[in-house]
Amino acid sequence: MTQLQKVDLTDQFIELVRRAATNLPADMDEALKNAEQNEEEGSAAKGALDTILLNVQMAREYSTPICQDTGTPIFEVYYPLGVSTRALANQIRRAVSVATENSFLRPNAVDSLTGENSGNNTGDDFPTMHFHEWDANFIHVDLLLKGGGCENVSTQYKLPDAGLKAGRDLEGVRRVVLDAVYQAQGRGCGPAVLGVAIGGDRGSSYVKSKQQLFRQLNDENPNPELAALEKRLLSEANSLGIGPMGFGGKTTVLGVKIGSQHRLPASYFVSVAYMCWANRRAHMDVTVGDGSLEVTYA
Ligand code: SF4
Repeated sequence: MTQLQKVDLTDQFIELVRRAATNLPADMDEALKNAEQNEEEGSAAKGALDTILLNVQMAREYSTPICQDTGTPIFEVYYPLGVSTRALANQIRRAVSVATENSFLRPNAVDSLTGENSGNNTGDDFPTMHFHEWDANFIHVDLLLKGGGCENVSTQYKLPDAGLKAGRDLEGVRRVVLDAVYQAQGRGCGPAVLGVAIGGDRGSSYVKSKQQLFRQLNDENPNPELAALEKRLLSEANSLGIGPMGFGGKTTVLGVKIGSQHRLPASYFVSVAYMCWANRRAHMDVTVGDGSLEVTYA
């Protein structure tokens, strides 16, 4: 058994949760600051962004949650052959429970039948975890805290959509993504980041759309057609005038990230994962050196 197979990462998962909940990623910080500079002096949009930025700064300084809704924790875990995913899942469940006790997370897991809150962010299929075996000899974990308000305005389209004149092509995708932003208006706590998935079945499409949210705002889609569509949609969404929190203005969306997957001939789904300004993502890498654990967070 290798050392990586024996380590208990509960403490490291707690720290990962703390960082995600309290420390907005640097690229989001920068995008919000640029947006604030870009809005008209004295406008409601500028005021909303000022308040958001002050909130982000205070959360970082006092290590307190960026928003009262700490969202659904979504863990994407990449691990080498031989590591027990069952052990990792138990460590993650323990970690979110302790992070809740420490007030980094709000108790957010509610039994859908009884309405009872478990009190510690664990429950049936809660938190969300996906495990991916890979060839690298270290463990990589991505964590996203996905807010409920923005989840409520996430949506899925089945193309063709006659009402939107959206066919089964990238122009159709463009039309439905803009419709999703328009329908959301001020709900979902924009400015938003949009994770978009083309294809798959209904379930895999939603999963894929959320996985796009782990991407850096300034990364480049390796597919040139999707890269061009991402840029176009960002510009067009910001010309809708919805603005931060729906107050009007130039900043409706901070990023658009699109992925695609194979689909059945009969179906063409487009899923839009709408993420609020509190785009709380954090990453960690775990390696075992000469007998010692090495952990880096980003
Ligand atoms: S949508 Fe985001 S910013 Fe709005 S309340 Fe939920 S977590 Fe907070």
